[in-house]
Amino acid sequence: MSSSALSVLQNVFGYPSFRKGQQEVIEAVLNGQDSLAIMPTGSGKSLCYQIPAIALPGYAIVISPLIALMQDQVAQLDSLGIASAFINSTLDYQQQNDILTQLQYNQIKILYVAPEKLLQPHFLSQLEQFPPNLIAIDEAHCVSQWGHDFRPDYAQLGQLRNSFSRTPFIALTATADIATRKDIIDLLKLNQAFEFIGSFDRPNIRYIQQEKFKPLQQVEQYIKRNTGQCGIIYCTSRKRVEEVADYLTRHNFKAMAYHAGLDVSLRSHAQTEWLKDNIQIMVATVAFGMGINKPDVRFVIHYDIPRSIESFYQETGRAGRDGLPSEALMLYEFSDADRIRWMINQNEHYQRAEVEHHKFNSMTALAESETCRRLVLLNYFGENKDTNCGNCDICLNPPTRYIGTTDAQKVLSCVYRTGQSSGFNYVIEVLRGAKTQRVRDLQHNELSVYGIGKDKSQEYWLSILRQLVHRGLLVIDITNNGHLKLTELARPVLRNQVELELAEPQINVTAEIGKDSK
Ligand code: ADP
Ligand code: ZN
Repeated sequence: MSSSALSVLQNVFGYPSFRKGQQEVIEAVLNGQDSLAIMPTGSGKSLCYQIPAIALPGYAIVISPLIALMQDQVAQLDSLGIASAFINSTLDYQQQNDILTQLQYNQIKILYVAPEKLLQPHFLSQLEQFPPNLIAIDEAHCVSQWGHDFRPDYAQLGQLRNSFSRTPFIALTATADIATRKDIIDLLKLNQAFEFIGSFDRPNIRYIQQEKFKPLQQVEQYIKRNTGQCGIIYCTSRKRVEEVADYLTRHNFKAMAYHAGLDVSLRSHAQTEWLKDNIQIMVATVAFGMGINKPDVRFVIHYDIPRSIESFYQETGRAGRDGLPSEALMLYEFSDADRIRWMINQNEHYQRAEVEHHKFNSMTALAESETCRRLVLLNYFGENKDTNCGNCDICLNPPTRYIGTTDAQKVLSCVYRTGQSSGFNYVIEVLRGAKTQRVRDLQHNELSVYGIGKDKSQEYWLSILRQLVHRGLLVIDITNNGHLKLTELARPVLRNQVELELAEPQINVTAEIGKDSK
């Protein structure tokens, strides 16, 4: 290891030793090699370019998409006595010129630039007069259509090769599936890049999933079992955020709502209350969490399935930053997935919709997985592992299958006898022998199927019904009030000509965080 890098780490930044990956990446950069660093948030990516920038003669360019982030970094470097500056749309012509002059006279070590600025031909030709010693592309996933935050300006950054053919490039990101990674290398024209891929595993986070039955009550029960623990609940819509926050407040939990539709002052108030532990639960859309580093978040609940594994990973990753046992709970039902697919189809940009479908399919595969969830997650990020984690719902409580023909027959004949003219709830009412007005009006209490399922819970039958829909024995007729109808596939089951294997419904199987449920 070059002693200069270590001495910069110790003398400038005040850290005794490198973290995993930093040393290898820095070494590659110092050797003039292109590199790609894929490391989770918080693992110390910035030092991978800041240290070479300082150790090498001349200056480095850092490309970053977020103005706020640039300002933070420059302020931080300033406080360490490292001359740095940023150029973006907030600066006027004179200010930009001053910075260029400083660069020319070696008075700046690190220059942060917004991509669209850097690509301006005039600006670029000025920089060509005194090329940088390094070009770092932060948030490099933005180059890719496959990334979750595509930015057209980023996709053009490969042009920089023409201006700076001898300058090493380093691309950094915290999220990149395999397709995105390939795009980064191709589009930025990285040449025989040194690749470092950090581990995405967060062993202290237990991944659990529950079938969504009565989500408000499920969430309430969950929080009650984990009294006083701090958590985040993610919902997909603002309306649902309000609903959940409202429900929890009415049930005497200290909860607040956070979404982009709220006033800035309300949002920052909620955030402060949460950071100060004045509230226990933040109910939020994805708008909440970026750049917030609360170490003791004990649980993250997904009230709805997120749209990609990247989002799932990012959001669940806000739990357990302190390394203590934490949980990521997801409530899932198939019809949520249908709704999201429908929403994706509304996207007029055909290619974008394709990408989103692809990403969402990976997410539902994780949700519907019958093998260790952590393995599915890590394999998605290309981190191939084959030992079960022992710390997810599948490992702790493997799904059991059983011959569900009789259950299916009960449900299917109930749908048939009640005239295929009702939805889930009513079918279950009849199955369980409910004494409701509608049952009496329709005289369904006189049917042979009335009450044949009363030994099992409402949730149990809901799970069976959903499985039958999912397996194509029943369809939900959306043109007709969501009534359930039998399909051809139901016939052989009703006639006892085939056996049907089903998953044993699992109803609320979580224990306190850090404890096993059995
Ligand atoms: P990332 O960009 O990967 O999200 P940062 O570069 O912001 O992460 O680093 C996260 C934190 O870790 C920062 O506070 C940084 O100063 C600290 N850090 C980075 N490298 C080291 C190290 N080798 N030793 C101790 N702390 C480090
Ligand atoms: Zn597992």
